[in-house]
Amino acid sequence: MVTGKNSMQELFGSMVFNEDRMREWLSPAAYQTWKQCVTDGTSLDIATANEIAEAMKQWALDKGATHYTHWFQPMTGATAEKHDSFIAPSEGGRVIMEFSGKELVKGEPDASSFPSGGLRATFEARGYTAWDPTSFAFVKNGSLYIPTIFCSYGGQALDKKTPLLRSMDEVSRQAIRILRLFGDNETRRVTAQVGAEQEYFLVDKELYDQRKDLKLTGRTLFGNKPPRGQELEDHYFGQLKPRVAEFMADLDNELWRVGVLSKTKHNEAAPAQHEMAPIYTDANAACDQNQLAMELMKTVADRHGFHCLIHEKPYAGVNGSGKHDNWSLATDTGKNLFKPGSTPRQNAQFLLFLAAFVKGVDEYPETLRVTVASAGNDHRLGALEAPPAIISIFLGDELNRVVESIINGTSYKGDGKRSLQVGVDVLPAIPQDNTDRNRTSPMAFTGNKFEFRMLGSSQSISGPNIALNTIMAQELKEFADRLEKSKNFQKDLQKLLKEVFTEHQRIIFNGNGYAESWINEEAKERGLPNLVSTADALPHYASPKNVKLYTENNIYTEEELKARAYIHMETYNATIEIEARTMIDMIDHDILPAASAYAADLVDRAAGKKEAGLAAKYETNLAKKLSDVTDKLAAANDTLARDMERIPEDVEKAMAFIHKTILNDMERARELADQLEAKTDAEYWPFPSYSELLFSE
Ligand code: ADP
Ligand code: MG
Repeated sequence: MVTGKNSMQELFGSMVFNEDRMREWLSPAAYQTWKQCVTDGTSLDIATANEIAEAMKQWALDKGATHYTHWFQPMTGATAEKHDSFIAPSEGGRVIMEFSGKELVKGEPDASSFPSGGLRATFEARGYTAWDPTSFAFVKNGSLYIPTIFCSYGGQALDKKTPLLRSMDEVSRQAIRILRLFGDNETRRVTAQVGAEQEYFLVDKELYDQRKDLKLTGRTLFGNKPPRGQELEDHYFGQLKPRVAEFMADLDNELWRVGVLSKTKHNEAAPAQHEMAPIYTDANAACDQNQLAMELMKTVADRHGFHCLIHEKPYAGVNGSGKHDNWSLATDTGKNLFKPGSTPRQNAQFLLFLAAFVKGVDEYPETLRVTVASAGNDHRLGALEAPPAIISIFLGDELNRVVESIINGTSYKGDGKRSLQVGVDVLPAIPQDNTDRNRTSPMAFTGNKFEFRMLGSSQSISGPNIALNTIMAQELKEFADRLEKSKNFQKDLQKLLKEVFTEHQRIIFNGNGYAESWINEEAKERGLPNLVSTADALPHYASPKNVKLYTENNIYTEEELKARAYIHMETYNATIEIEARTMIDMIDHDILPAASAYAADLVDRAAGKKEAGLAAKYETNLAKKLSDVTDKLAAANDTLARDMERIPEDVEKAMAFIHKTILNDMERARELADQLEAKTDAEYWPFPSYSELLFSE
């Protein structure tokens, strides 16, 4: 337990082989080589790799590790690990602890069971893993975890880390071209910074164990709406219940030990819903750390008699869980490029980065939408609890006025009446936006960063950040190409900003994103795409426009992008097929028998009462109603089972069929099952109710 400042300092990152530790455990030359490899992207020579491996191993053994694992992020969005022990046989039947630079830099897991989307023929089962020296290794549960990239024999990316690193390199390269135009000759690296706020639910483990749907699919497939949901709005920021507070304290400890900067914890809108927000860090580490956080939430919950639900929609009728991806760009000299400037030069530079972002989001909304599309997130987006599926940007009043004054060339009316001349004037103070006031925007500027709010709680944050980095790299490249040729930088910059904001103003929307008039009228008039569901979004994954974007910026080859589109669709299909099969099983084996038994008992009771000369209207009517609904449910279940047999072979056709037909069948079956639950004696009902699950903390 953390008791004071000093013990906190000792605890934080204690299980991480971080920069300080490298300085401590490596020779100055090896440390410098590693450092250069991180800042300039140079490769490690084998002698240095050997020295780092040896130091890492000694340090890990000190921390009680016996194994090491190349920890990587396959395209499924989860993480994978294969543990090898350090031991090697030695003379006289003894063992020594061995770990070489070769093993650090390259491992070869038999990766044939990871999806490759056709990139790797099955006979060529090997995938290659290589240490990502920009992310620190750490010790957890007796193993040294080595953050790793994962590629095929031919060098194609098979993971979510490789393209993220490529996109970070590309946006850095293009951002530096722009910075040079503004006279910045010091910056050597621009890094995407990310803070991912993570929502989750807790449920009592004993109750969880009684729900096949939660165990197999992560969400409830049935459940009559409880008499009390989140109507009282008393949960958000409410006092933590003791068992939850203990869980959170334990979680923080675990997160801090492995270097995750967990900062904020609080209750969320729905009962039993909570959030953890870390302090931001570079996009690569943030992505690793978010994976680690999700995993630790589950293991720590288990220790406290809870199960942690990270699904986007564990319960119908109350808010689901998302993830806010806070994103910005920072220089290695410590400047945030999305922080409004305090000098005319900084202000002009800020407006250029802002313009690039606005243009990029307006030109490539489909790829952003695709990166947050999943079966789980379909229950949230556009459902009045999460932003709509339409992408737009919120700038806030002040910044919006600045943009308008640039477009109109008119005076800026923010503070007094004066005109704003880019590169001459100082920007007005842009207030930090109060997030609570505009939760309805999918992409909100919040003072010094953008907050992308459409992510699902269970997804990897890699995809959305790859998209943001790539879009930004593309736009900065276009700007740099143009401005590098300019003979009058100030004038051409002003012209560029005016042009870009004018052309892309339609993506800026500061109103209520939940409003029907926005979704059904205004956004349509502006021509903004509304890709409502995953089935609508995924056909855009590898569209010609997106292939061009990702190949020209060297993020994906066309094959890599198509492989990912395929896996994404396959995952969507598999997710819903599992849900449907679980549903069929629960209806046949649990729900129908329970309702039938109760109705039969009611009939018996009615007969008994009648024999005694009593009326039995209640029993008879209820038995009849239950019996009717039971028959309807049995029929609905048959329909669902029959339609499951009709799913087409082709993955894209299957997705469309599942979206249209299977989901519809499931909705019908659920409706009937929930009616039965509402009328059946709780003693007979085969699993815990929503009330029990939601108020089990
Ligand atoms: P709040 O949303 O409660 O006002 P903040 O805006 O400070 O809190 O932070 C929300 C999340 O955004 C945190 O994870 C934080 O670390 C992250 N964040 C803050 N500044 C930046 C930045 N410049 N770039 C990326 N993420 C950031
Ligand atoms: Mg937020």
